Parts: sequence; C-alpha cells; structure tokens
Amino acid sequence: MSEIKLIDKQYVANTYNRFDVQIVSGHGSEVYDENGKRYIDMGSGIGVTSFGIADEEWKNAVIDQLGRVQHMSNLYYTEPCARLAKLLCERTGMKKVFFSNSGAEANECAIKVARKYAAEHKGAEYSTVITLENSFHGRTLTTLAATGQEHYHELFQPLTPGFVHAKANDAEGLIALAKANKTAAIMIECIQGEGGVLVLERDFVQKIADFAKKEDIILIVDEVQTGNGRTGELYAYMNYGISPDIVSTAKGIGGGLPLGAALLSEKVEDVLGYGDHGSTFGGNPVSCAGALSIIGRIDDKLLAEVREKSATVFSALEGAEGVESVSGMGLMIGIKTVKPAAEVLKKCMENGVLCLTAKDKVRLLPALNIPKEILTEAVKIIKSACK
Ligand SMILES: *Cc1c(COP(=O)(O)O)cnc(C)c1O
Repeated sequence: MSEIKLIDKQYVANTYNRFDVQIVSGHGSEVYDENGKRYIDMGSGIGVTSFGIADEEWKNAVIDQLGRVQHMSNLYYTEPCARLAKLLCERTGMKKVFFSNSGAEANECAIKVARKYAAEHKGAEYSTVITLENSFHGRTLTTLAATGQEHYHELFQPLTPGFVHAKANDAEGLIALAKANKTAAIMIECIQGEGGVLVLERDFVQKIADFAKKEDIILIVDEVQTGNGRTGELYAYMNYGISPDIVSTAKGIGGGLPLGAALLSEKVEDVLGYGDHGSTFGGNPVSCAGALSIIGRIDDKLLAEVREKSATVFSALEGAEGVESVSGMGLMIGIKTVKPAAEVLKKCMENGVLCLTAKDKVRLLPALNIPKEILTEAVKIIKSACK
C-alpha cells in the first residue's frame, strides 16, 4: 500500500471505506490514479462536479475570485453571493436564498424556516415534519432524524424530536399522518438518491403538494442530489408540475466547492429575520463565483442534452444481460443488477470506470457535460460488468 494510503488509514477517521485508488488528476469526465491509470468518472464526486474535473470555465471563475477576495464573512456584501442568489431566484421563481456549505445545512435551514412559519401562523406546537421512509436528508442530528432509515439512527439517540416518516407513494397514508400530528412541514426527495434511485410517482407528489397548500403546511423539496440540472430539468420538482415552498440544494450547485442553498418562496421569504440563522462560510465568494459559472450554463440546450444522454443510457442497459431494471431520471440513474452491486463496481473499476452504489443498486451520476463518446465507452464497460 502506498505511503498516502497508509497515512490516511492511520490518521483519517474511519468513517469511509475507501476504494484502493488514489486519484491524482483529471480533466472533464476522465481521472487518473497514482499509477497513471485512466478511469471514466461516472460518479462525479457523488453528483458534485457538474461540469467535470478542472472544468476551464468554472476554474477560471474560481481563480479570478480567489485573486480578489476569498472570504469576508456575511458582515459585508460580496458580488458573487448577490449575483448567485438573483440568478437562482430568476431561474426558479423563488424570492430569497439562504446560503450554507452542505446539503445537511441547507435542510437544517429549510426545517428552521418551516418550524418558525408554523409557530407564527398556527402555534409553537405545530412542529412535526413528515418525511418519507427510505429517505436521506443528511448526517447532522436533526437531518438524521429527518432521514427515514432506522439504521442511521440507532447509535446516536436522542435525535431531534418531531420527525415522522410516511410511506412513499401512499398519499392517503401521508395525509392521515399529517392530520394525526401537529404538522409544520412535509419534506420529500422527488427521487430518493441514497435510498436506491427511486422515482416518486407523479400522482403522489401532486396530491401531497395540493394537500400541503390547502392546509398551509410547508412543502420542502430536498434537491441536494436531484438539483442543478441532474434530472434533465434545473430542479427535479419541475418534472412534477408543483411549486414547493422551500427547495434545498447543495452537491452539484458549486461544481466542486462546498455550497448549500435553501431557496425560499414568497410565502416564507421573510420568515427569517436578523440573527435567526447564519453561517460563517455560507455564501463564500469563491464557492459562489464557481456556482455562478455552473448555474449560468445549465440552460435549455444543456438540459436537452442531459435528457438525450439519459435516453441513451436507459436504452443500452434496459433488458441487458444481468440487468434487472434501470431507474432514475436524467443523469441520475440506478441499475438493479443480478450480481451484487459491489461486484459490478469492482469489475467496472478494473476496466477503467468509476461508478457509485445506492442500496443494492449501481448508481450513475456522471458530469452533465460528459462527452457522448466517453459516455458510450463507459456504458459498454458497465454493461459487460453486469453480465
Ligand atoms: C447528499 C445528500 C444530503 C446531504 O448532503 P451533505 O452535503 O453531505 O450534507 C442531503 N439530502 C440528500 C437528498 C442528499 O443526497
């Protein structure tokens, strides 16, 4: 084992079971390990490097801002933060943005806004947040409570109270739970990412969105993984014809630098006042400058390309030998394989393709601008690994 791997094993906390690969460089959707072996990157850092590794436009935006000012705190105005908030609002119809550094923090903000809104409009006892079974909302104690998977909870009790989990795609069940509790908010992922790339049914999402609107319950859509062009729309909720009260996002928005955002609709834009929430690094000018170059390029043309590439992957893999089913939307794709997903991943890695898993599936989250030839090459290798 190389020196770096040994040092990492000795000194980095044991929370990650890393693959035996050290990535040293890359460009676009191709990365190279310590031995110079090339891999096609079908994971993009878990859906983070939206335009690939060391993308020129993103890199130039980041370097330019680094040379001006890297951080000033939220005591002062900086241009990238203001411009990014404006761009996100213009592209979504949302009214205000709170910036943080991660998905969990974006969700924390969303939950705080929903609870304050409910307390002010209905009473402090209206604090329950309904989330879905098998969901994933983050690793902080509150977002773990929101995460509807018991195995994440066991060792860390007590978690933040006030979270109740409903079954996905059972609108009547969710509505009954919401009525049985004093409910502040309903929070969903339109596609459960960590839960196994499970796409929520359109009818379910529309029914609970209508119910939330009627009952003045805040609808939060967690777009940490599905957002920023990933599903072939700027945000996944746009595939469902709904208008959420709050959208949280992170991962791909920063193109590789830490950035989270809670987008607030007109209903909740003024819920947070001075001192109600904050973040030292939130809205960091370098992260925001990078994000501006990412969001600015996720236009109709790019989204159409994402949908087109998605169709290519689906048609190549659906019905292929060793493939039970393919799920997902856009370039967020889950493959249920006959062989264990870990085995398929290992084979892909040997043959120069880096993939992810999600529960028992192989998961693909390639860069949105992955060249078609490289995507075809990767899919061929994945397909043969499934056999
Ligand atoms: C990754 C993820 C999170 C957590 O994001 P972090 O940046 O790791 O805190 C939350 N929600 C969803 C849907 C995610 O995929």
